[in-house]
Amino acid sequence: MRAWSVNRPGPIGEHPIEFVDKPVPTPGPDELLVKVRACGVCRTDLHVTEGDLPVHREGVTPGHEVVGEVVESGEGVRGWRRGERVGVAWLHHTDGTCRYCARGDENLCPASTYTGWDVDGGYAEYTTVPAEFAYRLPDGVDDVTLAPLLCAGIIGYRALVRASLPEGGRLGLYGFGGSAHLCAQLAIAQGAEVHVMTRGAEAQQLARSLGAASVNDAYDAPPVPLDAAITFAPVGDLVPVAMRALDRGGVLSIAGIHPSDIPALNYERELFYEKEIRSVTANTREDGREFLELAARYGIAATTHTYPLSKADQALADLKAGRFDGAAVLVPDA
Ligand SMILES: [Zn+2]
Ligand SMILES: [Zn+2]
Repeated sequence: MRAWSVNRPGPIGEHPIEFVDKPVPTPGPDELLVKVRACGVCRTDLHVTEGDLPVHREGVTPGHEVVGEVVESGEGVRGWRRGERVGVAWLHHTDGTCRYCARGDENLCPASTYTGWDVDGGYAEYTTVPAEFAYRLPDGVDDVTLAPLLCAGIIGYRALVRASLPEGGRLGLYGFGGSAHLCAQLAIAQGAEVHVMTRGAEAQQLARSLGAASVNDAYDAPPVPLDAAITFAPVGDLVPVAMRALDRGGVLSIAGIHPSDIPALNYERELFYEKEIRSVTANTREDGREFLELAARYGIAATTHTYPLSKADQALADLKAGRFDGAAVLVPDA
């Protein structure tokens, strides 16, 4: 099969990733072999490709927003049919036995492994997934629209849960890419007033079209104090900005993966009155199932730009340069 391989992690302009021939993987016990029909391009793929995340598997195939179909089941798999649509996401496996897993926080499992980092992912014609970590997908939504929900959507959902937004509350979103534009749709559908702070005319236009109550530049203050905020842009400088925008008792949840350093905070202006900062670490399978159900109920859909699988390097470069709004999705070459 054709697949992308991160052979020399480094800047995307220096060809760190190559389109190569790899054998079609064989599903191990309790695994599914999946034919990839669409794979979203996530910023984490860029971090794996550029070496911001340490190499966990040499020559890894990135990609963890996979919509595909089951073509083969390994030994011991139950409940999946050949031809059935399946989703493969970031969380590949956890031990299920540690104290974090035992209390329902499998996203914190020290033994967790990740798709497209520890194991080969979806920038390929085929991939594998443990059946227990595969998602059933709602009917009536096409493959390309669904793909970005599997990481961008699920992470945005977890960030929203972590932000403890009160019902009908005011939510600020800093940055408005793949994850934020899905999170905004869910929050608005659930009755929140959403204020978006982002640079870039296209992202601002998208925010308006999705029903944001206000749209401002990244470092501008929203027109009202916020009950909760989420930083999606991986920019530590935005943290004090967002903390100043919070109302008393407000919560900031930091969803941007691998953000730059956070500057010193001023206690009076940026933390006092019981404001809180919370990080967001991956997600549990429960988060994923909850989000996919809500997404189907509210018709949450990603704004997508498709690239043929053979142009994944271009998609990553365009993501880095901010050349599209919404989310890029790889589809099999015609
Ligand atoms: Zn565990
Ligand atoms: Zn991701």
